[in-house]
Amino acid sequence: MSSTTKDTAPAPPFTRETITKKALRLYPERTVEPLGHGRYSVEGTDGFYEVDLAVFGGEESCPCPATKPCYHIALATISRAKSRSKARRVQADRTAARVSRSSLAGLAASL
Ligand SMILES: [Zn+2]
Repeated sequence: MSSTTKDTAPAPPFTRETITKKALRLYPERTVEPLGHGRYSVEGTDGFYEVDLAVFGGEESCPCPATKPCYHIALATISRAKSRSKARRVQADRTAARVSRSSLAGLAASL
C-alpha cells in the first residue's frame, strides 16, 4: 500500500465530511432557526450567522470568516434534513390515523 498521494495532494484541513461530523456533534447544543426561503439563523461560537442554503440556486453561503463549507452551513443542512424527515413522519401518522379510523368505522358497522 503506497501513500505517495499524501505528499502530492494534501487533504484540506476541513472537508465537508469533517465539518458534517463537527456539526452533528454540535447540533444538540446549538440553536438553528429556519427563517424561510432556505435561510437559517445558526448559532455560532460568538453569535448568530444567517446561512443561506441556496435552495433557489447559487452558492450556499454564511457570513462567518471560516473556510467554506463551514459548520454553520452544515448545521443548517442538518436542520433542514431533520425538518423534512419530521414532515414525512407527520404524513405517515396522518395515513396511519386515517387507516385506523376507517377500520374502526368498519368495526362499528359490523357491530
Ligand atoms: Zn459559517
